[in-house]
Amino acid sequence: MSFKLPNFLRWSSLDTLRQKMGAPLTDNFVLVPVYSEISIVEQLNTGGVEIDLDEISVHDDGTLLYRGYRGLLHIRDITSIAGEMRMPRYHLAYCQTLEKMKKNSRFDRYVVAQTNTGEFKVNLVDRDITSRNVRLNVCQNCLDRIHWKGFSIFGMSRSERQNRVDNFSLPEFFREYPRDLIGMKPKYTSGTAPLNDYSQNWAKLSKDIRQQRGHRCESCEESFTKDESRFLHVHHRNGLKNDNRSVNLAVLCIACHAKQPEHGHIKAHPDYKLFMARNKRQKD
Ligand SMILES: [Zn+2]
Ligand SMILES: [Zn+2]
Ligand SMILES: [Zn+2]
Repeated sequence: MSFKLPNFLRWSSLDTLRQKMGAPLTDNFVLVPVYSEISIVEQLNTGGVEIDLDEISVHDDGTLLYRGYRGLLHIRDITSIAGEMRMPRYHLAYCQTLEKMKKNSRFDRYVVAQTNTGEFKVNLVDRDITSRNVRLNVCQNCLDRIHWKGFSIFGMSRSERQNRVDNFSLPEFFREYPRDLIGMKPKYTSGTAPLNDYSQNWAKLSKDIRQQRGHRCESCEESFTKDESRFLHVHHRNGLKNDNRSVNLAVLCIACHAKQPEHGHIKAHPDYKLFMARNKRQKD
């Protein structure tokens, strides 16, 4: 089977949209059949896709990515407790609530969706199960996580926070945080999407990047000798380990790397302990 691909660079409606979004046309803009991507978006729009934790990555800005698209997470199955249905909040960022859920391994109960209306498809589980579109409120921890319009859990009264939740607008959110990172990351079909794993040339690439950037941590700005390169890591900002565009890579010392979301496990690495001991020695 073969497909004739349209040339997206000459497809004026798409290009106009791209310019409106202010999305750059990157060097490695990859031409792919767009229909598989559309089907993901359609799925997301029409009721959510059940996900594993591993399929979600966290953008630098704290928002949630599913296959490169910004998504909203919510619990799909709502059980009644003593005849009462308590509606869940939906999440747009990797917030405290999700962190807690993840620690308790309860992430599998979530689905990812994209909607502009604030209506989500849920299953109401009572005596029987009814599938219904319901309006959900945005999670306050999420608004706090991305500091949406200065939102702050601790800095605002309960009524002010509720007021912000009531007036929260998804279209506005998606204008600021576009759903589709088109032109900002290479596109893949679901069939050709690489596993989220390091590419084969990673060792060399990582070495070259550290060299190019002067063996220096981009966060704390500490410099390292070549002998100490084990303490200097190359981090994927969007969590996709095969997205090796320069803009997605950050050179970080092991301590700054361990501070990234979902990177706590680095602290268990022997190099981390070595590094901490070395810093202590240098201070003494
Ligand atoms: Zn949240
Ligand atoms: Zn550092
Ligand atoms: Zn990393």
